Amino acid sequence: MSAPIASDPARVVDAAALRADFPILDQSVNGESLVYLDSGATSQKPQVVLDTEIDFLTRANSAVHRGAHTLAAEATELFEDARETVAGFVGAEPENLVWASGATLALNLVAYAIDNATAGRGAPASARFALRAGDEIVVTEAEHHANLIPWQELAARTGAVLRHIPVRDDGTLDMDAAAALIGERTKVVAFTHVSNVLGIVNPVADLVALARAVGALTVMDACQSVPHLAVDLPALGVDLAAFSGHKMLGPYGVGGLYGRTEVLEALPPFLTGGSMVTTVTLDEAGFLPAPQKFEAGTQPVSQAIALAAAARYLDGIGTDAVHAHEREIGRRLLTGLDAIDGVRVLGDPGADVDRVGLASFDVAGVHAHDVGQFLDARGIAVRVGHHCAKPLHARFGLTASVRASASVFTTDDDIDRFLDAVAGVRSYFGAEGATA
Ligand code: PLP
Repeated sequence: MSAPIASDPARVVDAAALRADFPILDQSVNGESLVYLDSGATSQKPQVVLDTEIDFLTRANSAVHRGAHTLAAEATELFEDARETVAGFVGAEPENLVWASGATLALNLVAYAIDNATAGRGAPASARFALRAGDEIVVTEAEHHANLIPWQELAARTGAVLRHIPVRDDGTLDMDAAAALIGERTKVVAFTHVSNVLGIVNPVADLVALARAVGALTVMDACQSVPHLAVDLPALGVDLAAFSGHKMLGPYGVGGLYGRTEVLEALPPFLTGGSMVTTVTLDEAGFLPAPQKFEAGTQPVSQAIALAAAARYLDGIGTDAVHAHEREIGRRLLTGLDAIDGVRVLGDPGADVDRVGLASFDVAGVHAHDVGQFLDARGIAVRVGHHCAKPLHARFGLTASVRASASVFTTDDDIDRFLDAVAGVRSYFGAEGATA
């Protein structure tokens, strides 16, 4: 058994009560009640989100922005209301929110739009995004592949140079290196708000200040922040930010790209086709203003409407309360993991940084996949592997780790069951002699 960890009596979220809203949690897995610690990969959905999507599909399903009939008008209204709700959830106006199928598409959209600007496409204002050989794109060593590979590809296509801000041993970004790296050649600074491996909240204001000082565009991956803390994208000052519906208690197939007005106005579109045009001849087309300019083809309508229900659900709890709860859960997780022999948490579990409820770790002498199966046999769901962050794992000398990630419904009991199970891993696999 791991040592008991004290709870914070000032807890504001009653996670145990919230569990009743998530029907999937009420089941046994391998004979044990489910402990779901994989919300960083995809979140579970409260009943209200499931009901909202089914209700739309059974009662009002119709094509939006076309059609003169009553259902089409209702669907359009619900869809645009959803945009307002989800935009408001991140502090933005509806015209600053572009729907995407997820964060991966949103980030690729930005990289391909810059590529189009480089090729001379778009309005005259698009030229400000054009990259020239030798220009620099700065990322961090902590990026998810979704906010790394699109920039690698863009660099390869344009002749720009990709550089990275290193991660320190404690898991924080080396901001001295960032200050030295971001300079006159820097045209794009792309970084994650919260690492999906370390759970650390990065210093966005400092990164934005460095980028602004040299006129570089900032692109933030907000996948692991928007579901877990109060995020006001305009106040953070980023130019563009991507987030994912399925990680914030919403459905699959929908996500958001936030952009500052002048940036969205000037960026050329990436995907083209129906629903984003003003005029079309056989030779050329004119484009609607943002956000429609970036929304070619049929959009994820039922998913967007259900995502708005997820945003309202999180708002109802209070995003500050969600963060306070998950920070406390994260503290319990890190304290407990750090106390188990042979367990090495990636980054310094004691570092004085803001976090969400997420930690990745290595168990000496036991492969991450074996740890995952051992936990699964006890009804505990975690993520194993590189979590789409291979460079960050390489930086910590690993190819894989185990990740536990929390949500609003995660209780102290969940964490304690998980910690007790992890404490038994090395003896089960006969790896007590191995060192981390
Ligand atoms: N960025 C981060 C930090 C993530 O954790 C993920 C999901 O794993 C993504 C991007 C990709 O998001 P999506 O599944 O919406 O494409």
